[in-house]
Amino acid sequence: HIELAKPVYLNGFLTKVKKILECVCYSCSKLKIDDNNSKFVRARRIRDPKVRLKAVWELAKSKMVCEGGDDIDAEMQEEEVDENGMPRPKKISHGGCGHRQPIFRKEGLGLSVNFKANASDDSQPEGKRTLTPSDAYHILKRISDEDIEAMGLSPEFARPEWMIMTVLPIPPLAVRPSIQMDGSSTGEDDLTHKLFAIIKTNADVYRCAQDGTPAHLIQQHEQLLQYHVATYMDNDIAGQPPAAHKNGRPLKSIRARLKGKEGRLRGNLMGKRVDFSARTVITGDPNLSIDEVGVPRSIARTLTYPELVTPYNIDKLQKLVRNGPTEHPGAVYVIRDDGQRIDLRWNKREVPLQLGWKVERHINDGDVVIFNRQPSLHKMSMMGHKIRVMPYSTFRLNLSVTSPYNADFDGDEMNLHVPQSVETRAEITEICMVPRQIVSPQSNKPVMGIVQDTLCGVRKFTKRDCFLTKEMVMNLVMWVPGWEGFLPTPAILKPKPLWTGRQMLSMIIPKGINCICYHSTHPDNEESDISPGDTKVIVENGELICGIVCKKTVGTSGGGLIHVIMNQHGPEVAKTFFNGCQTVVNYWLLQHGFSIGIGDTVADRSTVMTITSIISNATNNVNDLIIQAQQDKLECKPGMTLRETFESLVNRALNTARDDAGKMAQQSLREDNNVKQMVISGSKGSFINVSQMTACVGQQNVEGKRIPFGFKYRTLPHFTKDDHSPESRGFVENSYLRGLTPQEFFFHAMGGREGLIDTAVKTAETGYIQRRLVKALEDVMVKYDGTVRNSLGHVIQFCYGEDGMDACHVEKQPLDTVKMSNAAFEKKYRIDLTDKSKSFKNGTLDYNVFKQIAEADEEAAKRGEPDMQTLLEQEFKQLDEDRHLLRNYIFTEGDNSWPMPTNIRRYIWNSKQMFHVDHKRPSDLDPRHILESIKNLEKQLVVVRGTDRISVEAQDNATLLFRMLIRSTLAVRRVIEEYHLTREAFDWVVGEIGSRFAHAIVNPGEMVGTVAAQSI
Ligand SMILES: [Mg+2]
Ligand SMILES: [Zn+2]
Repeated sequence: HIELAKPVYLNGFLTKVKKILECVCYSCSKLKIDDNNSKFVRARRIRDPKVRLKAVWELAKSKMVCEGGDDIDAEMQEEEVDENGMPRPKKISHGGCGHRQPIFRKEGLGLSVNFKANASDDSQPEGKRTLTPSDAYHILKRISDEDIEAMGLSPEFARPEWMIMTVLPIPPLAVRPSIQMDGSSTGEDDLTHKLFAIIKTNADVYRCAQDGTPAHLIQQHEQLLQYHVATYMDNDIAGQPPAAHKNGRPLKSIRARLKGKEGRLRGNLMGKRVDFSARTVITGDPNLSIDEVGVPRSIARTLTYPELVTPYNIDKLQKLVRNGPTEHPGAVYVIRDDGQRIDLRWNKREVPLQLGWKVERHINDGDVVIFNRQPSLHKMSMMGHKIRVMPYSTFRLNLSVTSPYNADFDGDEMNLHVPQSVETRAEITEICMVPRQIVSPQSNKPVMGIVQDTLCGVRKFTKRDCFLTKEMVMNLVMWVPGWEGFLPTPAILKPKPLWTGRQMLSMIIPKGINCICYHSTHPDNEESDISPGDTKVIVENGELICGIVCKKTVGTSGGGLIHVIMNQHGPEVAKTFFNGCQTVVNYWLLQHGFSIGIGDTVADRSTVMTITSIISNATNNVNDLIIQAQQDKLECKPGMTLRETFESLVNRALNTARDDAGKMAQQSLREDNNVKQMVISGSKGSFINVSQMTACVGQQNVEGKRIPFGFKYRTLPHFTKDDHSPESRGFVENSYLRGLTPQEFFFHAMGGREGLIDTAVKTAETGYIQRRLVKALEDVMVKYDGTVRNSLGHVIQFCYGEDGMDACHVEKQPLDTVKMSNAAFEKKYRIDLTDKSKSFKNGTLDYNVFKQIAEADEEAAKRGEPDMQTLLEQEFKQLDEDRHLLRNYIFTEGDNSWPMPTNIRRYIWNSKQMFHVDHKRPSDLDPRHILESIKNLEKQLVVVRGTDRISVEAQDNATLLFRMLIRSTLAVRRVIEEYHLTREAFDWVVGEIGSRFAHAIVNPGEMVGTVAAQSI
């Protein structure tokens, strides 16, 4: 360290020092306010030290005299009595010195004081002068411990005088290494240069003090020392010239090293360059599995994995070592058990391996890696892939993983990281792999779906009129994963056997999958299963029964086919479905053919005429509006000025014109129009794209308004002044097909540019918001006791999400009772065994069951237990209570569904299939068994363990809704009459609910804070 000849201010603390100086007396260092001031009493009770300092400063800064002295003391001596005759607490004297106080001001790198004239006090000379750091140091040093505490500082850990520097610490050489330049001379680090200057100036100040140099010279030296110390730490202080080299380059200060994105913290500590990584351009490859990544051979030759030599792999590794670093499946280093590395580049001769050594071998097919695309905004931005070494220089990936990465192939680059230990490999395979990320906890639905050409193809493939010849089927079947060698029975036998596309797709959908979806063109009011539009998609036991498959079925929608497969059969089966669907459909589409062209944007003659008339009508309407406005006949709309009214009317006229024209264009397009096909399959394009191409591009906006007058009273010199007509204010009446006029093109470019800027600004802003959110929540985790806590162990939630469920394992499920009328409710749930008309329907229950009920009732009567009818009444009463609660407290908004684990309806459907439930045969289910099973099941659903009052309440709240769902879905009447479940089918459903529920409980270790931060 360097002992400074004179103290210096620390620039970073200067404002704080000023604040503290303003709180205390200039002469006696006593706090300028005391407990006589009730506001001060309140201020010193503030817990947060920062806030406390601010509060105290607010009170003290304006006090221009250090109160106290004998006169006040004398006054205080006599006993004071308040209105009630009670003695008032004696005021204690402030005990100050009575001197006046200066006004402090920041000046350059130091402070100045200014004393106002005051006749009664001449302790300090009047006027302005600098406050030397030594003076400030002495004032601060005299402050009492009690006052330090009151100001939010700490006498032990943060004394105010420490904010003024008396000793300068010197960083070791490793921090400021010298660079060897051309042999003899050495280049020193900027910090070293600065330290030279500080030492020199410091010596000057020492010398001057001993020499008795004139005061103004000493002061100059002191100021230079202050400057050097300040710029040593921070060289971009506002209002200060930055210290520079002789050549004019500014010196790099300590602050510059630390701050910013490239600084020590964000650039070297929180994120840094890493080894074993690669980056290159990505391209698509539909023949890769979704969990694979194609890696260029050149990259595979560079990246390595250290593999331990064991009896099982010694031969393989020996061969790799023999291949050396230049041939692809080869190796780069051999590490002996003593840690010595043998570089295979220079060891051309054979290196005999021994057990326990390590071989840094090239990565090869099947090795797992982490693949990443920036900006890494959610956890699906870094996923595990198996590599496939391929020729050429791009990373290749399946098209379905582009959505979570938000990647396309217009030049995007991605990064790849190779794990370097078996532990990391295990974590990647068990946690990070792509198939495990298909369902995201952000929105409890899949993030990957069928996209692009496959999506467009699957729609055509599953249309009713898609028939395949035997030759085609034989070729397609080769793409079916795990095909067992059998062809399905052809849908049409004569005159020649033909198969449907649905039959082929059914071969890919796993067995046991049941699901109902709707096609994109499904009319809302249609109820029937089969309709001319063929828009209801029914998958039963893995068989596509009817419906055209589109984005709604096979895309990322919740409750869609991919979601169901994932929930029912898990990631591996879902992966196989993705791959099978892509390969089969792509092969078929390749043979079938699909393309679009200009012809797809041309509307027929009559449509064009209608569109032209719609637009000219709108123009006429706007012209009328203009005339009305000019003649002052327009009436203001409520809350709008005349101009706003005019603009809104014009806007409405033009927008309806655009929409009407678009609708006309849409209607005129034939069913085989290729753009239309893409739009309804959901693979590309939308209504607005179609109407802009064929009908009318529409109004161009800047800042949400029509194009403003950039010139004097006009948008462009092509128009007359004060022209408010549609064409002058940016209405593009042409379509992209017809082409834009120069003015239209210009306005279109204006609107387009604004959009471009908007997206650029938005990405920057959201990125920063994301960073702050993640940083704030990064440590929040589910612990083994089920609570959610941060790294300090503070409880954030006692039960994650208050239901303890993993968001990946819940599906939206409706509670039927909410929307039911009283009559329907009673009809659906109430059973009266004594009344024939209100008892079970004829033929739904086996005769033996009635006998059992009667026998059990007798038994129960002997034991004094309730009979069947009472139990059923109890059930109904419970259901009624549930309904009351749901309607009045839970779903007050009128909606009735909520994400809950295990889709009960689907499990009922599954069980009916598995146990071949026949609706015509009476059930062997004893109602008593149903009621008991449900009671036991409810007890089995444990989220919060513990028997204390709070745990019991938390457990009750966590499972309340789900228990209501079970009770209403598996009520006796519904199980027997609606689902016709047999006893074994019912038992299976109940068992499945229990185990799936346990499976859906959130795992300890889940970083739910990050999940929350990513979900905004
Ligand atoms: Mg791109
Ligand atoms: Zn004082």
